[in-house]
Amino acid sequence: MTISKLKVPFISFSSFTFIGLIVWWFRDIRYFALFSGIGMTEFCVRSFLVKYPQYRQQVRLIVQAIVGGFLLFFLSLTIGVNFQFPQIIFDATEGIVTGALIQTLVARLIVPFFLGNAFCSRACWTGVFFELTNTKKSKKVYERNNYLAWGYLLLLVITAIVVVNKMVNPATDVAVRKAFIIGENLYIITVGFVLTFLVGSRAYCRLLCPFLTISGLLSPWSYFKVRPTQQTNCSGCMKCNKTCPMYVDVHGFVKENRAINHRQCILCERCVSACNNDVIKVDSNRSNTNYTMK
Ligand code: SF4
Ligand code: SF4
Repeated sequence: MTISKLKVPFISFSSFTFIGLIVWWFRDIRYFALFSGIGMTEFCVRSFLVKYPQYRQQVRLIVQAIVGGFLLFFLSLTIGVNFQFPQIIFDATEGIVTGALIQTLVARLIVPFFLGNAFCSRACWTGVFFELTNTKKSKKVYERNNYLAWGYLLLLVITAIVVVNKMVNPATDVAVRKAFIIGENLYIITVGFVLTFLVGSRAYCRLLCPFLTISGLLSPWSYFKVRPTQQTNCSGCMKCNKTCPMYVDVHGFVKENRAINHRQCILCERCVSACNNDVIKVDSNRSNTNYTMK
């Protein structure tokens, strides 16, 4: 294995460790352990996949299930750290910083500069659940509508403000917070299933998720992207488009020899795994990046 093939694993590891140092400074050493652990896992997994790329999807989903399961079952349901978006408002009224804001700062405002929306395909528990259960593809492509996505985010903010002022503040009571964690997750799963039935796979993620709304603003500047590295090998088989859970027109980008610069791309690499001609891969070569975003 040549050193250059370890570029992606090494930069992933360094980036997560750097994030761990920053969060340690703001909070405590447990966050450094968490993020450097994620970085080390990324390094090991990506190094393994350099040699055995045929296992890319199985390994990714196992890692996502483990990381997502840890965040949901241990940090959320056992300790009571709420990672859902309204918790940012609940915490803000008490002047505290916990899971939801840390997730936004790290996974949605820092990680997008080097790994785009990869949190959605590497760590999100609802993401792995939807990816395994919400696989139905619709014939019509429903693009993310900015007004709908930002309107939904605003609605969550307003709802959280009403809850805090008229009902209860989950920031100050662990038992209430755990009840909110269960309720919010059940709500997202229910909405996700209904939307997927109507408009196809990972519909909640594609159309509404407030975290993707935020990270999608920055992901066009991601250092790593799926890129055509051997464009002339493309046979036009369209397997990349058919497999993409986020309905990205991968082949359209390949035809123009452009990096996949789409705000909905979650870097799951399903298109990379589906391509039998090794046309595309995750790479950092910026020569074919066009920052015009779709
Ligand atoms: S374009 Fe490829 S990496 Fe991006 S979401 Fe679609 S399948 Fe995943
Ligand atoms: S799967 Fe590969 S060969 Fe087929 S259209 Fe996509 S990029 Fe081209």
